[in-house]
Amino acid sequence: MGDGGSDTGEDPMLDSLICVAGSSIKRSGFIASHSSDERERRVIFVNAGGEELRRQGHSEIEVETDRFFQGGDVLRTDEEVADGGDLPSIYQSARCGNFCYEFRDLPPGDYSVDLHFAEIVYTNGPRGMRVFNVFIQDEKAVSELDVYSIVGANRALQVMNIPVSAGKDGVVSVNFQGVVGSPTVSGICIKQGAPELQLVSSGRDGKSLLCDNCFAPVKLTAAENKAARMSFTAKYEREIRELKAQCQMKQDECYEAWMSLTAANQELEKVRAELDVKFFQNFTLGQAMEKETEKMAKISSKYEHDRRLWVAAIDELERKMKAIKSEHSQLSFEAHQCANSIPGLNQMVTAVQSLVGQYDDLKMKFNEEQERRKKLYNQLLESKGNIRVFCRCRPLNMEEASSRPQTVVEFTDAKDGDLGVLMNGSNKKIYKFDRVYTPKDDQCDVFEDASPVATSVLDGYNVCIFAYGQTGTGKTFTMEGTEQNRGVNYRTLELLFKIAEDRKKTISYDISVSVLEVYNEQVRDLLASSPPMVVRLEIKQVSEGVNHVPGVVDMKVENVDEVWNILQTGSNARAVGSNNVNGHSSRSHCMICTVVRAKNLVTGECTRSKLWLVDLAGSERLAKTDVQGERLKEAQSINKSLSALGDVISALATKSSHIPYRNSKLTHLLQDSLGGDSKTLMFVQISPSEHDLGETVSSLNFATRVRGVELGPAKKQSDTTEIQKLKLMLPFCLCQLKCKDDTIRKLEENVQVLEGKTKSKEQFSKSQQDKIIDLENQVELKAELCGHLEKRLSHVYEKMQRKEEACYSFQQKVISFIMKISELHNPISLSARSFEG
Ligand code: ADP
Ligand code: MG
Repeated sequence: MGDGGSDTGEDPMLDSLICVAGSSIKRSGFIASHSSDERERRVIFVNAGGEELRRQGHSEIEVETDRFFQGGDVLRTDEEVADGGDLPSIYQSARCGNFCYEFRDLPPGDYSVDLHFAEIVYTNGPRGMRVFNVFIQDEKAVSELDVYSIVGANRALQVMNIPVSAGKDGVVSVNFQGVVGSPTVSGICIKQGAPELQLVSSGRDGKSLLCDNCFAPVKLTAAENKAARMSFTAKYEREIRELKAQCQMKQDECYEAWMSLTAANQELEKVRAELDVKFFQNFTLGQAMEKETEKMAKISSKYEHDRRLWVAAIDELERKMKAIKSEHSQLSFEAHQCANSIPGLNQMVTAVQSLVGQYDDLKMKFNEEQERRKKLYNQLLESKGNIRVFCRCRPLNMEEASSRPQTVVEFTDAKDGDLGVLMNGSNKKIYKFDRVYTPKDDQCDVFEDASPVATSVLDGYNVCIFAYGQTGTGKTFTMEGTEQNRGVNYRTLELLFKIAEDRKKTISYDISVSVLEVYNEQVRDLLASSPPMVVRLEIKQVSEGVNHVPGVVDMKVENVDEVWNILQTGSNARAVGSNNVNGHSSRSHCMICTVVRAKNLVTGECTRSKLWLVDLAGSERLAKTDVQGERLKEAQSINKSLSALGDVISALATKSSHIPYRNSKLTHLLQDSLGGDSKTLMFVQISPSEHDLGETVSSLNFATRVRGVELGPAKKQSDTTEIQKLKLMLPFCLCQLKCKDDTIRKLEENVQVLEGKTKSKEQFSKSQQDKIIDLENQVELKAELCGHLEKRLSHVYEKMQRKEEACYSFQQKVISFIMKISELHNPISLSARSFEG
């Protein structure tokens, strides 16, 4: 131990660093020994991180340049290293980092190692910046060495006399391993032989002591030994007592410190918890604020956007309003102009109103006129007689023509209704009828005269048209006609439809047809079934002057084709069940009944009227035909019904109180259409042949009797000039009415158009004004909302600031607590360590 005493014994704290018995720590640098022994013991001395050093003199020192190392870096300082001993410069350099030393080729045997350190980097600390372990031959020699903690910066420190053995390989390895930071070393010295520990310890137990100057063992006597031991013992006992008292004191201090530490820890925990809570609150608040800010940003951007839109919309609306206003003023100007341009618009309106009044008046007058016209027309017909008789003579047939018979009829004054019949050669008798048709007159001529009577059914009159005459004189031809040459029946119905169509704007008509046959005083419905069934005649009065036969098929017809089909059906049905078609048809009455239901669309008046078209059975007398049995019955029936017809007409003529309608089925059926307001037209059919003279005369006499009924009554005489005048006036009136109508309509249209325009403009401007008001309201609302939101935002900001302040104060508190705690902690740890030592 030539280089002086160790510090280890004086500073027990350092002992904990030493892991190998015999080694020690010294708080100073290398001191060269004067003994040559010591010099010779040094096998290798390297200046870690430095150059070779040589000191001449009695204590010669040789330090090699740094070698035997593996890894690490070199550290150097120019600063002076205090307590550097004889070689302060070796402490100015160091090997640092991840390194180790391996000394080779050493002779096998025991060695001791000195390690030299100085903190030349972390000169301002703090403690614990560099802590490391040292392993020699893989065995920990120094544990957790912190040079700065022990000696401070730029001060030398030695760990001396670490025993080591070199094996056969002659290698001694020194490893440095950092605990905190990287290890450093300034020098390594390997000395021969194990450290001489035994010597010191034997000195302590009294056998030998070391010289204070040279550390050489000193031999003592037994008495000296005892005195020395006593003084040692007394010294140690005193030291122990002092230490015990110190220990107690430290224990107490420690306890107090421990308690205060516990309290501080508790408080710290509390503060931490509070801090956590505050932190969490702060965090959530921060988040909420972020959200709020985001929201606000969104709202304000939306607000800005909306505001821009509104401003644009308001501008647009203002523009539109201006345009509308100008349009409005333009329109009102135009309206004024228009009003001005029409001199006296008010007068015009009044004029129009008066025209409308006039129009209504005229319409009424027109209706009245129509009514009057009807009446007059009726009167006209009546003036010609309510029963009118037309006489039609058929042409000679082929047979008659070939046998050159004498024609017994003469048509010289046929135009005046006079018919001459040559009786017994030269005796000529004149018959007077309403019309006389020569064989040359065709169906058209006949219908032309018959149509006014027939069509008066449309004016609400009951009408009866029948053909009377001997078989073969053309009754069926006149009534039915042929397909190429249609008769009164078809033509009448055709005309009814035509007139109905013409009048459809003012009157709507429903027309239905039934076809009956009277044979042997039996009524058959020819439309009901085939063969025709017999109808039990039961006549009911449905209204004044209108009878109805229940159970009779009443076919509604819409057009002429349907009429034709019905007429054909009837005609065909009539033939069924008869051996001799012509014969049968001649011996029965064929009766077509047309019922007309009319509704006047102007006045609402409804009428129901009937038109009978009757093809009577042949009127030839019994005497002429050689009849028996069935034929006789037929002839009697025919005779009965024709006589009854004559009687009824006679009774009507004489205005008898009793009209014997019920004497035959024929008259019974015709009851509502014979007499009263009803009109009757009879075709008396005659043959021109000399052969048929008797029958012709008979027929003509019957017809004359019938016609004579209504001739001459004074009341039937009507003033035709008035009618003519009215007739002339009528088209003019109609034309005027139409003109007025047109003018009124045009004026009304104009007024309506103008009113519509004004209305629409007014509406448009009103809707625009409403829109503006609406938008203004919206703007106000939004502004309010914005103000509200701004207030909320400032409120949130305030809150945030307050929270921040609170947080800041908490942080301050926490820092002060931490400081307090660390203050408390340091003395405790210091005292704890001293206590442990
Ligand atoms: P009725 O019905 O009176 O028995 P019809 O109508 O059957 O008589 O006539 C007998 C025939 O005379 C028929 O062939 C018919 O065509 C013809 N006839 C009748 N009247 C005329 C006339 N005015 N012109 C041409 N032929 C006629
Ligand atoms: Mg006939």
